[in-house]
Amino acid sequence: MVLILSLAVCQGIGVAILLLFLGDFFSTFFYHVPEHIFGKFHSLVHHSNNRSFLHYAVLTRNPLVLIDGLLGALPYFMFIPWLWQMSPWGSILGLLLGELHVIWRHGSAMNWKTHPQLLKLCNYLQITTPERHWLHHQDARVAFGDIFNFFDPPAQWWLKQLTLIKYGLKTSNQS
Ligand SMILES: [Zn+2]
Ligand SMILES: [Zn+2]
Repeated sequence: MVLILSLAVCQGIGVAILLLFLGDFFSTFFYHVPEHIFGKFHSLVHHSNNRSFLHYAVLTRNPLVLIDGLLGALPYFMFIPWLWQMSPWGSILGLLLGELHVIWRHGSAMNWKTHPQLLKLCNYLQITTPERHWLHHQDARVAFGDIFNFFDPPAQWWLKQLTLIKYGLKTSNQS
């Protein structure tokens, strides 16, 4: 009985981590980075000067903000039907952690300071802290990976490739 229970707990936690991993991966490479090169929503909403982050993240009714939020969140919901079969509560835990992380990582706007020990742990585990995410808000070419830091180097590579593609398209249009 205890063994079955602990197996279910491990499976649930695994499913939650998998949901965050897949969600961040697809959100970063198929929405966030391409949106920086070809789109407008995200830059307007996320990187303009007159934003209030907590407001932006959860409370606002501005349709542009909602569209950016929905498109960015879609990858986290995409895998729910599949993950649900493995662990319903793990799927809910993953979504909940994802939502809490959105609020937490935008805390810098309200002068949030992460405890040094927690900062160390997050850096060790490659989890994006508010301090790190703030770097992305200040410079849209760095600190990608909404939840996991290790998506940053491939995301920066992807950003360069898409910039080249866009530049190539422009020059071929002109010629
Ligand atoms: Zn942000
Ligand atoms: Zn961005």
